[in-house]
Amino acid sequence: MAAGNEKRRFHGTKIQCSLGLNGNTEICPSPTCAVCRIIETSFILPAHSNKAHFLRFGPGIYFSSVSSKSNDYSTPINGNKYMFLANVLVGEGEKYLNDNQNITSPNPGFDSVLGETGLALNHDEVIVYNIDQAKPSYLIIYS
Ligand SMILES: [Zn+2]
Repeated sequence: MAAGNEKRRFHGTKIQCSLGLNGNTEICPSPTCAVCRIIETSFILPAHSNKAHFLRFGPGIYFSSVSSKSNDYSTPINGNKYMFLANVLVGEGEKYLNDNQNITSPNPGFDSVLGETGLALNHDEVIVYNIDQAKPSYLIIYS
């Protein structure tokens, strides 16, 4: 096991600009361009009051080992989609088979939440609730 049980995981998200295309290497200033904001400041926790998105395991930062799962959260712009490959410190993961939207952190003795496949989930998820446990490493642009 790597130190901190560090894993490489996917995180699909939205973009509102053309970063990485046609020689554009400048992040945009839009506060709602998730890709540029993650590059600028790393991942941030969603507001618990933000009901715009279904948060299966509460207001954490969500990752998966399955790129097609993360693809569901990547919104195309001009036919291109964006996904991060991140380094996530999973530590000791607390396993869940069913949704629990009231989670705000793992229980004592655990460092992350693991959404396991079998009941509610078709693909695995790992959720961290501390921004220091995840760093974006690569940005994948695909169509
Ligand atoms: Zn942008």
